[in-house]
Amino acid sequence: MALIKCPSCDARVSSVASQCPECGFDLAAGMADEETLRTLRNRRYRDRMYVLKMLSFAAMAIAMIGAIPMLFHYINAIEAGIPAQLMDHWGVYLVGIGFVFYLIVRVRMLSMKSAHRRGQ
Ligand SMILES: [Zn+2]
Repeated sequence: MALIKCPSCDARVSSVASQCPECGFDLAAGMADEETLRTLRNRRYRDRMYVLKMLSFAAMAIAMIGAIPMLFHYINAIEAGIPAQLMDHWGVYLVGIGFVFYLIVRVRMLSMKSAHRRGQ
């Protein structure tokens, strides 16, 4: 008994299994069908890209939630004639977290995109 990769979800499954225990993919019927595999791979890629896109929007939202009150804080400080320090406001941390989060998601998207083009 050997372990093979499920063509649908990449989970390691037994070569004697007729169905993938992770995603229920029919291993006995699906193995020979290139067209089905390509369709499944494309669908999985689209689903993952969609999740990543949503995560990148969430990252931008986090940065915005920090940036807007931070901006008002600075404007108020300038109007009051008080010198505003960059690290004064909690918003700067949210902007930082959102920005790093966004970069990680974008890098992940790029690597997935190139892996998909290579046909993995
Ligand atoms: Zn599977």
